[in-house]
Amino acid sequence: MERLGFVGLGIMGAPMARNALKAGFAVTVTNRTLDRAKPLGDAGATVMRTPREVAERSDIVITMVTSSPDVETVTFGPDGIAAGAHEGLLAIDMSTVSPAATREFAKRAAANRPPFRTLDAPVSGGELGAIEARLSIMIGGDEKDVKRAMPVFEALGKTIVHIGDHGAGQACKLANQIAVALNNLGVSEALVFAKAQGIDLERTRQVIAGGAGSSWAMQNYAPKMIAGDFKPGFMVDLQQKDLRLVLDDAYGQHVSLPGTALVHALYAALQHDGGGRDGNHALLKVIERLSGVEARQS
Ligand code: NAP
Repeated sequence: MERLGFVGLGIMGAPMARNALKAGFAVTVTNRTLDRAKPLGDAGATVMRTPREVAERSDIVITMVTSSPDVETVTFGPDGIAAGAHEGLLAIDMSTVSPAATREFAKRAAANRPPFRTLDAPVSGGELGAIEARLSIMIGGDEKDVKRAMPVFEALGKTIVHIGDHGAGQACKLANQIAVALNNLGVSEALVFAKAQGIDLERTRQVIAGGAGSSWAMQNYAPKMIAGDFKPGFMVDLQQKDLRLVLDDAYGQHVSLPGTALVHALYAALQHDGGGRDGNHALLKVIERLSGVEARQS
């Protein structure tokens, strides 16, 4: 089995590394805040201080950090993966970042001495999908690298699709984020409307979730929304980072995405009020405020 490395042990990276251990891989991990790596060490992973050391000890290294500059830091920074690269190393970035930056990273990896290979493989399915190894994984890069990494992907997810060349996985993930954000808005408006109508929210949610108005958000977020539980699986700040990437690329190509622009502005109101670290289903709070209706199960 390939030796696996993980860089970034946040909400997503930690359970993914845990699932790799469960699948029998030898796993080496690191995290910027090293304390957060301790539970993985207790579970059997080897903990190292830097991405460079993780790369030196691994055949395949997975990065799961926040944004494009963070991937650049852990990959090409002074103690980054490139500094510990060796013949045959494959670096798979599973964070959600810019498709253009991803293509650039692939070129820099190929020009590194020694060169190393890359894939982009962002995921969807949230914290629960990560914990239960049910992620959807959308992959960009060369077929032979995808085949090589398939046992790793199978340990982390269920729906695994090779979309195209470098950056194609990230482009697909951004399309996914448009659907996630707009589904959240649909669920928020449906719940606020139902509350204003005076009908029972849980019964309403239940029947909508079984019909044509259903969505992942209706099934997974709506119960949390009406319970007033806005703890993050996926933070508002990260949702905004993704919608910004979408809108920047759309702007450059003259693609009109009015719904995405609207949701981005609504989330900004939430950030303004200090809700950036809430879960992205806290969009409900903005819609509630606009109508003076609180959509909580009584
Ligand atoms: P998170 O809990 O905030 O974790 C981010 C991780 O990245 C932490 O381990 C953090 O280290 C590390 N990091 C950030 N910047 C770094 C830097 N410059 N150098 C080194 N390490 C750095 O976020 P998450 O929810 O796991 O999300 C990770 C990625 O997955 C993001 O791109 C996100 O958009 C994507 N994603 C998230 C979800 C979800 O539901 N949460 C779903 C799909 C995709 P520290 O511990 O030191 O802060």
